[in-house]
Amino acid sequence: MSEFRVALTFDAEHPDRPAAFSNADRLLDELDRLDVSGTFFVQGRWAEAFPATARRIVDGGHLVGNHSHYHARMPLLTADGLATDVADAEGAIREHLGVDPRPWFRCPFGSAADHPVVVERLTALGYREVGWHIDPQDWEPTNSPEGVVRAVVDGALARGDGTVVLDHTWPDQTVVAIPIIVGRLRDAGATLVRLDALPELPGPGRVAAPQVVGNR
Ligand SMILES: [Zn+2]
Repeated sequence: MSEFRVALTFDAEHPDRPAAFSNADRLLDELDRLDVSGTFFVQGRWAEAFPATARRIVDGGHLVGNHSHYHARMPLLTADGLATDVADAEGAIREHLGVDPRPWFRCPFGSAADHPVVVERLTALGYREVGWHIDPQDWEPTNSPEGVVRAVVDGALARGDGTVVLDHTWPDQTVVAIPIIVGRLRDAGATLVRLDALPELPGPGRVAAPQVVGNR
């Protein structure tokens, strides 16, 4: 049977919508229980605010990337502003998680998709911008857990080996959806892996997000 690897990735950041305070910890509990390793793109200010939870990402064996410090739209920053923001996040991640997030970077809102200058600047700072194949819009308050499950499972089955999934650590529906997603994907023969186990990753040239609202 051919390989079917799926990488669950989570943006760990301050919510911009109402969400239960404990969701990131509950999500980490579920991943532990299911023995799943994933990838977390950590916002620097979130790591500063929740250092104990942030540390659990490393203790759980997950891969850590950088999701900026202030969660600003990278194309709006000057070169110096971008470098400062990225370095601030990197410093917070080193301090609170004890790891170097390089080379993994994900732009807030996926906003590097159409901005090669941002990608160039990130590259100069030692980063590789990583996108996704499947966006279940788990942050959308009207999206049900079952909607998130369907989008991820159907999308991964359609795309096959090497699928990268975008999720977030804070939405209520994500915490409910993840165990169901893991069960269904494993039933379909999938292995859940970190991004560094995949030979090819979706880069900034991926299909751009259809709208600019939302918390990616
Ligand atoms: Zn984000």
